[in-house]
Amino acid sequence: MTAMFTVRSPADGTPLAEVPEQGPHDVAATAQELREAQTEWEAIGFPGRARWLRRYRDWLLDNETALGKTLQSETGKPWFEATIEVPYVVEVINYYTKNGARFLAEETPRPHNAITMTKRSQVLLRPYPLVGIITPWNFPLALALMDGVPALAAGAAVMVKPSEFTPLVTRQAVAGWAEIGAPPVFACVTGHGPTGAAVVDNVDYVQFTGSTRTGRIIGARAAERLVPFSLELGGKDAMLVLDDADVDRAANAAVWGAMCNSGQMCTSVERVYVLAPVYDDFVAKVVDKVRTLRQGRDDQSYRFDVGSLANENQLAVVERHVEDALNNGAKALTGGKRAEGGTFYEPTVLVDVHHGMTCMREETFGPTLPIMKVDDVDEAVRLANDSSYGLSATVWSTNTARAEQVARRLEAGSVNINDMFTNLFALPVPQAGWKQSGVGFRNGGAAGIRKYCRPQSIVSARVAPRSEPTWYPYSPVKSKMLARVMRFTMARDVLRRLGLR
Ligand code: NAD
Repeated sequence: MTAMFTVRSPADGTPLAEVPEQGPHDVAATAQELREAQTEWEAIGFPGRARWLRRYRDWLLDNETALGKTLQSETGKPWFEATIEVPYVVEVINYYTKNGARFLAEETPRPHNAITMTKRSQVLLRPYPLVGIITPWNFPLALALMDGVPALAAGAAVMVKPSEFTPLVTRQAVAGWAEIGAPPVFACVTGHGPTGAAVVDNVDYVQFTGSTRTGRIIGARAAERLVPFSLELGGKDAMLVLDDADVDRAANAAVWGAMCNSGQMCTSVERVYVLAPVYDDFVAKVVDKVRTLRQGRDDQSYRFDVGSLANENQLAVVERHVEDALNNGAKALTGGKRAEGGTFYEPTVLVDVHHGMTCMREETFGPTLPIMKVDDVDEAVRLANDSSYGLSATVWSTNTARAEQVARRLEAGSVNINDMFTNLFALPVPQAGWKQSGVGFRNGGAAGIRKYCRPQSIVSARVAPRSEPTWYPYSPVKSKMLARVMRFTMARDVLRRLGLR
């Protein structure tokens, strides 16, 4: 009998559901079924696959509220945030069904040299048969489907392994694929780390989102199997507020960027560097704004802005970072402690912080906002780059050209200027973590779907004599003739072409 595990509400610990702990045999059996269905899925071509994806989009919209409720129950998000993921995924479906045919179009490159002059060359993009997607708990629906959709559109079968903390909405969404009667090329397996490891052992491409620690293990295992992988990992995103910034906008963005999803976003604002002339104004506005935030266990009536953390482990990390900061001389202008009830931590603004503190170096992934005063732009850039992570960053200045110059000096895969998280909604641009924040990228127009494909070259003879000059038997006459023809077509100048030099 398959073992089960309990999924609980992080807001109050109540049990929500029992879910199977699937072992290596279950995962291998699911992989086998997916592989069998994938051949036909690829064969129906992009238009056929796009038709199914569009029907799936309708199902997602028709079940938006039910999906949001499940997602909210297992994540503790406020309703506003629990209802963002379905529209996000629908946009991903719209983007790839609209542009996918063009992104996957076959190419027929022109011959380059004499040997291939009479051949026809084609380059096809054939999918990896089975893509494994392993996801964390912070955006359980969006992170499974923003990668699942382009993989399915490319013609791959997809096996998704959600976090053990939040498997319910992913299971529900994958069940929707079966409910619309789509070919059985999309499956969900549930369990803890070993289930994820079994996914890595059974697929042809691994798409992982999660911590840097797990990403490293997965990358090593995938490399042993010689299967490609893409890792979207942790971050320690910096916000640089220059002396000519619109301080009101920057302060509002900082609070949203740090507290949204209780700070559990890979691209959360994790540290802020503010130039001295606007520092006091910025901090005062941030503190005022944070004090207005309503924290609690939301239902569907938008009563709260900030929810719980996803689990006790995450709460412990936040407590450790804040304690370390306070013990080393930082001040908490708001919060600084856990709140009543489940895994809630009060929105916390920290000042007098420095790079000797854990909160400025390790990923906190909680509702904290450490703010540091800096003398000039060079210091802000130096400190922003003084990190093992390089996911994304933001720059704030009313002089966009100046902000762009700063952005080009940052070691981060994405930079938003005078904006927060907007690159995540810009589907034509890649999201790529630099340094310890990842390997590869997700989304990003054509590249976001082509990553799930292998190029296949087909070169065919348009003229087919009995033999070719390069084939047996070798002879001095043939060799010299060939050399002359090749030299004539390859060399740059007339003398070399004619063999006179
Ligand atoms: P995690 O690494 O603990 O777990 C992620 C997933 O990996 C889970 O499904 C887990 O069961 C699975 N897993 C654990 N051990 C495994 C193993 N040995 N083999 C295969 N799978 C295994 O991460 P988490 O705590 O769930 O998520 C938080 C992290 O995710 C943060 O670091 C955050 O920055 C990161 N994240 C990154 C992005 C991005 O796009 N860069 C987006 C969201 C979250």
